[in-house]
Amino acid sequence: YAKHNPRLSVQLFESGMDERRLRSQKLAVALQLAIENDELDLAYQPIFCLKDGSIESFEALLRWNSQEHGQISPLEIIAVAEHHGLAHLLNQWVLSSACQQLRGWHRQGYEFLKININISPEIFMSGELASTVKAILQRVGLPPSSLVLEITEDTSLWDTASSVDNLHALRQLGVEIALDDFGTGYSSFSHLRQLPVNKLKIDKSFVSDLTTDQRAADLVDAIIRLADSLDMAVTAEGIELPEQRDRLQQLGCAHGQGYLLARPILSCQVADWLTKNWQVRHSAPTG
Ligand code: C2E
Ligand code: MG
Ligand code: MG
Ligand code: MG
Repeated sequence: YAKHNPRLSVQLFESGMDERRLRSQKLAVALQLAIENDELDLAYQPIFCLKDGSIESFEALLRWNSQEHGQISPLEIIAVAEHHGLAHLLNQWVLSSACQQLRGWHRQGYEFLKININISPEIFMSGELASTVKAILQRVGLPPSSLVLEITEDTSLWDTASSVDNLHALRQLGVEIALDDFGTGYSSFSHLRQLPVNKLKIDKSFVSDLTTDQRAADLVDAIIRLADSLDMAVTAEGIELPEQRDRLQQLGCAHGQGYLLARPILSCQVADWLTKNWQVRHSAPTG
């Protein structure tokens, strides 16, 4: 009926909006409590060197199993946080939790392990990130070189000079910057020219078509060579099939990540996973 009755469709639309707004508000209240009570969690997905199968880094991925609302996806958590003024609090929590956990793994003997942390564009814009990161690294006792910050290029925020300054401040600290979901943004080349990034992550949509679509394969090949000539290290995301991994190896892609290689691991299981996988990966190449 709504299709033919404009008044009814407006009502349905508005009540849908109300529901969404209500959920967002409830989630914001619950999220703030969850951050304060340390009820969020991080999962860690390993990033491997494709040549010898060794572990390069862990990407920290936000997880929230709310008592009241169930499992909430990281993208929804980020959206709620940004909409309700919790982005900085959340970012602080993610940064300091991940750094503390990495420090723990370093102490257990995995000193070369790095950590990748996703940072939302809003946080970069504020201009406080470099000093926040510096303070956390000092407090926790980690070298800046063990931290890789991932930013997505899919935003117009990158057109401002201040975000470029903020990135330079971070690079000066010794932190690395990766451009996440590369290839899906709208002006990749101007970003590569302006932003002081030193890593690229090829979006999983390219990887999933790699062995079935020649154009996708050609593009991945071109991205890898482009990165090479700009002295950037490349990671392919979303590797699910052995033939995708093999093709990426052939194309000379340095690093890889995906369900085929390892799923995200809950923080409490990482130490176990490391004892089972580190020796294997680091003494006997799996190629
Ligand atoms: P992302 O940074 O591009 O992370 C990769 C996403 O792909 C993760 O989803 C990961 O679980 C998933 N993934 C990994 N391997 C595979 C695979 O082989 N196949 C498929 N289909 N997916 C794979 P997740 O954990 O749901 O995170 C989604 C997005 O949420 C992330 O995309 C990132 O943009 C954002 N995010 C997650 N944690 C944080 C955080 O702490 N802060 C911020 N600002 N954003 C975060
Ligand atoms: Mg990422
Ligand atoms: Mg990505
Ligand atoms: Mg993504």
